[in-house]
Amino acid sequence: MVLELLVLPVWLLSTVQLVLVPLCFVLAWSLVVITAWNLISAVRDGVSRATVMHKIPCAECRYFTNDHRLKCPIHPKVALSESAIDCADFEHAGLI
Ligand code: SF4
Repeated sequence: MVLELLVLPVWLLSTVQLVLVPLCFVLAWSLVVITAWNLISAVRDGVSRATVMHKIPCAECRYFTNDHRLKCPIHPKVALSESAIDCADFEHAGLI
């Protein structure tokens, strides 16, 4: 009697397989697609962030001191930040 209860009927197994196989297929590929999408998104964000950071002109400015205590005597709070992009006081260090 106990053994008869442990054996699942064939129709139940085939029904479960009919539901679980496509469901697991969709879930697995969804996981792959989400992971790939996150990787692509991270690379795209990193590239756009690097592009913005390379627009900061302070490293080539004659007023840049390269000292962490006072990076720039003209705009000390703005130096080496995104606010320094298009700084009106930028002068190329090579012009001295
Ligand atoms: S003057 Fe402007 S560009 Fe030059 S170091 Fe200071 S903040 Fe940067």
